Amino acid sequence: MQRRNFLRTTALTTGGLLLAQKELLANIFQQPAFKITMLTKDIGIFTEKGGTIAFMLAKKGIVVVDAQFPEQSQHLIDELKKQSQQPFKLLVNTHHHGDHTAGNISFKGITEHVVAHANSLTNQKNVAVTQKTEDKQLYPDQTYTDTWCEPVVGEKICLYYYGAGHTNGDSLVHIVDDNIVHMGDLVFNRRHPFIDRSAGANISSWIKVLDKAMNKFDHKTTYVFGHAADGYNVTGTKEDVKAFQAYLTNLLNYTGEQIKAGKSKDDILKATEIPGSPEWKGDGIQRPLTAAYEELTATT
Ligand SMILES: [Zn+2]
Ligand SMILES: [Zn+2]
Repeated sequence: MQRRNFLRTTALTTGGLLLAQKELLANIFQQPAFKITMLTKDIGIFTEKGGTIAFMLAKKGIVVVDAQFPEQSQHLIDELKKQSQQPFKLLVNTHHHGDHTAGNISFKGITEHVVAHANSLTNQKNVAVTQKTEDKQLYPDQTYTDTWCEPVVGEKICLYYYGAGHTNGDSLVHIVDDNIVHMGDLVFNRRHPFIDRSAGANISSWIKVLDKAMNKFDHKTTYVFGHAADGYNVTGTKEDVKAFQAYLTNLLNYTGEQIKAGKSKDDILKATEIPGSPEWKGDGIQRPLTAAYEELTATT
């Protein structure tokens, strides 16, 4: 009798626990997985899925840099609306990749303007036509070629184009008074980068772009990076930019040496580390090695 009671109690308890766990799990899945980190009183970053988003809640309006994917940008818009009654004045795209522009569509009818480099718009259109996703795009209505500076919401925002890098249309986005610069995917913090040669990427030019960036901004500048490896921040300092620049230099040098030594592409791709940049670990090393190999062996 006692034993039967015990069993029944245990069964109930287990059942109750399972139910509680199920509810807990359901709650976790319903909660958006995004994270907002404020860098100043008005400027923050949003991370969920895709390239890091930066935003500014100014007195005269809201500015957003990059948009991740539609679901994520909706999460961001919902959160920012809770924080500010001001209109969305400007959406900036650092470049055309889907993890930065697919979410533009959530800003349709919401943001006054979308700005990006002229090549970013061309690339976004080309990809959308190829992938038949034109109806899912919100394209920039403003583009520039060298520099774009505007006092958008009472604070000056400047976009700079320093040449080909991760693509041929990467903007550096400077929030001038607060000295914060969004580097887009020009910096992968301790993570192997995507080098989009199909959109005009060039590693040796990318190294020069980072030189220009470090000359333009100062040692107090806060940099925002498109991506970082697990355990590393998506914001950082000039030292992090320098480290990534060294990675790109080491990548080109190493691949060049291997080619000179008569190694085949397959052999070169077997490398597990770029000598001189051991902090770059994990998956994805074949992508930059392939890009470096193609860049160094290109005949045109
Ligand atoms: Zn990205
Ligand atoms: Zn990208």
